[in-house]
Amino acid sequence: MRNGTVVVVEDDPHIGELVEMYLRRDGFGVVICPSGEAGVETVRREQPRIVILDVGLPDIDGFEVCRRVRAFSAVPVIFLTARGEEIDRVLGLELGGDDYLAKPFSPAELAARVRAVLRRTDAPAGPGPLDDREVLVAGRAEVDVGRREVRVDGSVVPTTAREFALLRFLAENPGLALSRAQILDAAWGFDWYGDARTVDVHVAQLRKKLGTACTITTVRGLGYRLEPGPGPS
Ligand code: CA
Repeated sequence: MRNGTVVVVEDDPHIGELVEMYLRRDGFGVVICPSGEAGVETVRREQPRIVILDVGLPDIDGFEVCRRVRAFSAVPVIFLTARGEEIDRVLGLELGGDDYLAKPFSPAELAARVRAVLRRTDAPAGPGPLDDREVLVAGRAEVDVGRREVRVDGSVVPTTAREFALLRFLAENPGLALSRAQILDAAWGFDWYGDARTVDVHVAQLRKKLGTACTITTVRGLGYRLEPGPGPS
């Protein structure tokens, strides 16, 4: 359990067992849920570090599970999709999915994705390098890098790992026009195969969540810019 808990929402017991075996080998505690409803409740109870979420479930689908989880948690989510299943990538991203894996997948590959997502999304525990304890300002929003938390007027605004990384990058470069490629590079990392639309979806989500607290301007033909200063209140 030294690495914390992973909740796996998967109705196929063979896949569940295989995934469990690999994740336990990596030092995770694993809780498997065979249905979506149970998955939501288990995430609420266990507060896992990451959720592995099958899209095709017997009751509510994985997207709906993610939607319900997002009401109370920004935990990283990796979707599993069945062979031949059309991945609604944009829908998944809007719901705050952090990665996808298509079945059949190798459990070693899944374990590697779990490590990669956690590397990108986790703040180090305790005192870390100076810039990891920084609190950046985005309009009236505070981007607390150490706590991995966005606050507006003192209240936490729940963000997904990607939204946080994106806002952090914008806040590190206030007033600068940043290309979608630069943003993808900084907030998603070199091992991400996303396209420019991915950035647009996440910016739209951030605008919705932050409202007038900060202004992210579209720079036509290029990307986005975080307006410096307090912005309209
Ligand atoms: Ca399934």
